[in-house]
Amino acid sequence: MPPRKPCVAVYPGSFDPLTNGHVDIIHRGAKLFDHIVVAVLVNRKKSPMFSAEERVTIAREVFRDRPNVEIDTFQGLLVDYVKHRGANAIVRGLRAISDFEYEMQMALMNRRLDVNIETVFMMPAEAYTYVSSHLVKEIAALGGSVDGLVPTFVETQLRAKTRAAAARAGGPKP
Ligand code: ADP
Repeated sequence: MPPRKPCVAVYPGSFDPLTNGHVDIIHRGAKLFDHIVVAVLVNRKKSPMFSAEERVTIAREVFRDRPNVEIDTFQGLLVDYVKHRGANAIVRGLRAISDFEYEMQMALMNRRLDVNIETVFMMPAEAYTYVSSHLVKEIAALGGSVDGLVPTFVETQLRAKTRAAAARAGGPKP
């Protein structure tokens, strides 16, 4: 029998920043697929807290011991990137019904763009179903604890960003 083609999945997102919810989904994906590419979206229209380079560095640090987890960036049409990587699946996380409508729309649109690419949804552990990058950033900015919601490395980076923003706000006004 010819050797089986490796099953590659792409997990796209903003990851601004990576949370323990994302980490949970990546671990599940890494068990299911031979190789999973965490694809950090470079969106020039949005102004993220962490640059694409910083988001990549964070994810590489968190997954440095997982050889089948690769971190990359992408822009443009997701299906083009998925094809370019030789992948056959898109992984997305589903936290609650509120995620469903948007995710279904994206999955069906991506299927229309390329019928050969399947979207696979995974649910995180219950403890992460209410975790979002957006909330984590708000809590950190207001001085709250994000312990247990993000990897320790992200916590340190968030604290540094928050301190830098506070120093800028407290500095001399132009
Ligand atoms: P977006 O693609 O909306 O910019 P994110 O980077 O926040 O999003 O998320 C990428 C994917 O991870 C999406 O499918 C999103 O639903 C999922 N996700 C985000 N947070 C969690 C979480 N806490 N648990 C499970 N999945 C999540």
